[in-house]
Amino acid sequence: MSQQAAPQGSRTGLFVNPAAARRAEFAAACGSLFGELRVADGADGALALPGLDRLDLLVIDLERFDPELDHADLARLVTARAGAPTFVLCPFANARWLPALMACGPIDYAIAPLDDEALLEAVRARLARGPAPLPEPSPRERELDALHALRTRVRLALGEGEDLAALSERLCQALCSWPGVAHAALFYLQPGGDLQLQAQHGERTLNLAKVLGRGERLLQSPLRHAFPGLLAASANTIALLDDLDKSGEPALADKLRAHGVQMVLALPIPSSGPGAPRGSLCLLFRAARRFSRDELDTLAELADLAAVGLRLADLNREGEEMLVRVTHLSTLDALTGIANRRHGETLMEQEIKRARRYGHPLALIAFDIDRFKGVNDRYGHPVGDMVLRAVADAAQKLVRASDVLVRAGGEEFQVIAPHTSAIDGLKVAEKLRTAIEATAMPGVDQVTISLGVAQLGEHESADSLTVRVNAALARAKRAGRNCVELAMG
Ligand code: GH3
Ligand code: MG
Ligand code: MG
Repeated sequence: MSQQAAPQGSRTGLFVNPAAARRAEFAAACGSLFGELRVADGADGALALPGLDRLDLLVIDLERFDPELDHADLARLVTARAGAPTFVLCPFANARWLPALMACGPIDYAIAPLDDEALLEAVRARLARGPAPLPEPSPRERELDALHALRTRVRLALGEGEDLAALSERLCQALCSWPGVAHAALFYLQPGGDLQLQAQHGERTLNLAKVLGRGERLLQSPLRHAFPGLLAASANTIALLDDLDKSGEPALADKLRAHGVQMVLALPIPSSGPGAPRGSLCLLFRAARRFSRDELDTLAELADLAAVGLRLADLNREGEEMLVRVTHLSTLDALTGIANRRHGETLMEQEIKRARRYGHPLALIAFDIDRFKGVNDRYGHPVGDMVLRAVADAAQKLVRASDVLVRAGGEEFQVIAPHTSAIDGLKVAEKLRTAIEATAMPGVDQVTISLGVAQLGEHESADSLTVRVNAALARAKRAGRNCVELAMG
């Protein structure tokens, strides 16, 4: 990189934006300022170009980039451009890009959109300035920059939501970006109270589950007082092993050293209330080092942030489980526990589609308890309810696993029977009839059912099938009850 602005004819520029039209616009507006203007449609394309570090100007136009999707790649590009002056055009409504990219190194920016003239002027001004003679940062500035970058990365990692596993993985990745960190791990207390190695990132060959002898039941591990990650989670304290031999576990120290680790620091992840921590963040360093007050404060702050992020991920998961339970409940009939009418209709549509696709027969059986009103009148409603449950249980035991038993309403039921013709449906219906007749009913002598059977016609709808099967059931009632009738085609 030259220290003076290069003459116009020999300047190399690189413009990065996903839209071909924008790349063409930029070339038209500013191409004359460069001897060579390269373009790339994204960070990957730009990184693949040789000579990134010899650029006179890297221009990243953030329009059409997506902060959620593209941040990590662009951060990589800004990190990799190795001192090449970088000019970022940032849409005004997306200024949150700026601190995230600044965390990766010094950048210059303008809030876009700029018209062609303003853009030309802005780019010319950057080029005339030449490479910014960056003063050597002091060690203190370096430390604060690194902390700022670390904090930004952790915030981004936590900001993306998602499930616990993905979040933990991203958090470990972010921690590894801190200078000197070879490997980072997250230990997390599962709902049952088991401390597990939730995620780790860094040295590919280093697997902490192997080093510790296990990845679960870690509170019972013999190493729980020797390894900082476990100590922090169990004793709720910052644990620092600045000399691996101090662990008192020579085998553990040797294994860590073999992976280039010289020092381990761990911080508890606080729980939302009083009590044991939710786990720990564990950082493994390539060399022993001292920590400043700012560094330790920042790390503690990151552990707090992690606690909030992980708690949200937990709540997210609980919410999803709740949704599954609620969905499950809303498909079942509360009295009998079998599919309710609405769910029955959904399943029927599905089975009709399946039967059509594979050319299989489908039968529908409808049955209704005979003179059930009399049962209620004579024995009372609660006994009627018990009879309904007993009928549903007996029928459920009898049908195949692929059949669906539905409470269609009141004391009326249906069996949706895939792979079943009218003849087979009649057999199933007859079995149901005799089984119910023979079932001992709680508090009642005996009940019987009447049944209708219909096979799905070639182009028939669910409604038409239901009408036909109910007509057959009505005929069975008229024929004296406790019998089966086949629907007309
Ligand atoms: P049929 O042989 O013609 O079917 O006579 P039925 O008495 O069974 O016919 P009807 O349809 O007139 O009576 C159905 C009865 O089922 C009336 C209603 O009170 C009762 N019933 C419907 N749902 C429930 C329920 O959830 N629990 C109880 N205990 N009874 C119910
Ligand atoms: Mg009835
Ligand atoms: Mg009825």
